[in-house]
Amino acid sequence: MQNTFPWQRVVVKIGSALIAPEKQGCSSRYLLAIAQFVVRCRAQGIQVILVSSGSVAAGAHLFPDHDNKSIKIKKAMAAAGQTEMMATWDRFFDFPTAQILLTHGDLRDRERYVSIRDTIFSLLDNNILPIINENDTVTTDALKVGDNDNLSAMVAAAADADSLIICSDVDGLYDQNPNLHPDAKLISWVADIDASIYAMAGGATSDVGTGGMRTKIQAAEKATSHGITTFIVNGFKESSFNLLLEGKNPGTQFQPYDSPMQEKLHWMTHTSKAQGEVVISGDVPSPDAGGQLHLTSDEIKEVHGDFTVGDTILLVTDDGTKVAKAKSNYSSCLLNFIAEQDDEAFVSEFQHRTGPIISADDYAPLEKK
Ligand code: GLU
Repeated sequence: MQNTFPWQRVVVKIGSALIAPEKQGCSSRYLLAIAQFVVRCRAQGIQVILVSSGSVAAGAHLFPDHDNKSIKIKKAMAAAGQTEMMATWDRFFDFPTAQILLTHGDLRDRERYVSIRDTIFSLLDNNILPIINENDTVTTDALKVGDNDNLSAMVAAAADADSLIICSDVDGLYDQNPNLHPDAKLISWVADIDASIYAMAGGATSDVGTGGMRTKIQAAEKATSHGITTFIVNGFKESSFNLLLEGKNPGTQFQPYDSPMQEKLHWMTHTSKAQGEVVISGDVPSPDAGGQLHLTSDEIKEVHGDFTVGDTILLVTDDGTKVAKAKSNYSSCLLNFIAEQDDEAFVSEFQHRTGPIISADDYAPLEKK
């Protein structure tokens, strides 16, 4: 019978309400149990990565006008609070910790993503605990992940983790909002994340951080599709971590996909951002047996956005269905040129000489929701 935590590399996501529950700087009140979990995992040879929110919540008390939540002030709070938060974590451990600050702009760039992966692996190989947060001070609306739930799933995928534990302020996913419905039932096992699961998550949000149950489900979807077992647990209860160490599920457990997506296609689907769209008339053709996707000028109905060679694009049918994300070997300018041609023989010859618009290795079909 299973009686220990059975995974080998775990990402634990800790929200702002656990770091700074009174909004008066960092507090060890809830972090001690989490730190003990980290120590006990590592003692069993399990590698741990923390994704810790809380820089804004930890830094707020340093500003006289801490109710001022303008973007400018929040960025300053994040800069000041991040050092306090790292110092708080560091005090719990007698092994070294390392800070990694990321934005979505870093994660969606393939080269930077691979560099982040390499750094995480090097830290783990040297028994250093990575502690990751979004770099709120430098990020902008266009470049941010926006919530650390989704960030933790991207990190778990980048780090090839086999489990993700998302700490919440409730015991897990309920069939309705437990703060409003006392008879709400805890869902302990989710085999498949579909629209009914999103409906249960509703729009519940936290009053300290930016995430809610919905972003936790999005994170679980990203992680399980990469083969990562995901839990939503109550981070305020020490018993959650004791149960996890006994190999038990204290909250909601999400089953990973049987055949996880290949790493690069997972990155394209869940982490990279489409820089443009190609609207296709009729059905979107799949790459051919030689792994190439060519398009006729008739098939390219519209090209939206300004993208360059190597950017991720969305392939969409004219009824708006998103069919695939893919790396484009052609710029938007060249695709517009192809779409304008009347001579299909020229278009075909052009692509055979220049190369396919998309290669199968860079083509990620999107499931219809
Ligand atoms: N990065 C934010 C912070 O450190 C938190 C984002 C979130 O709460 O999900 O304050």
